[in-house]
Amino acid sequence: MNPEPSPSFDCLRCGACCRWPGHVLLAGDDIPRLAAHLGISERDFIGRYAVLASNRRQLSLAEQPDGACVFLENNACRVYPDRPAQCRAFPLGWSVPGCPACPPAG
Ligand code: SF4
Ligand code: SF4
Repeated sequence: MNPEPSPSFDCLRCGACCRWPGHVLLAGDDIPRLAAHLGISERDFIGRYAVLASNRRQLSLAEQPDGACVFLENNACRVYPDRPAQCRAFPLGWSVPGCPACPPAG
């Protein structure tokens, strides 16, 4: 997810969090913002990049065949300035197993 560095967190830009299993749920203005970033309609965005989440009530980002987020490219986010809110909130306040820069859970 390549979050911006902060005094308490220095992302190593390994891209591991963008490969983890689980949904990147789309909420709020995520879809119009991402569609605008890509220069396509919201309808096209949903058709190309979104899938129905397992809760069957929300859309989430599609995945590449290896399970990585559809927008991960060379360990970087293709839509970083306009990434979903879920990605913006990560990982501050979380203890995330597998993140080399996150504090250990405890
Ligand atoms: S949208 Fe970007 S930051 Fe969010 S999971 Fe996908 S590649 Fe990572
Ligand atoms: S797993 Fe941690 S260090 Fe790696 S890109 Fe994600 S937030 Fe950054």
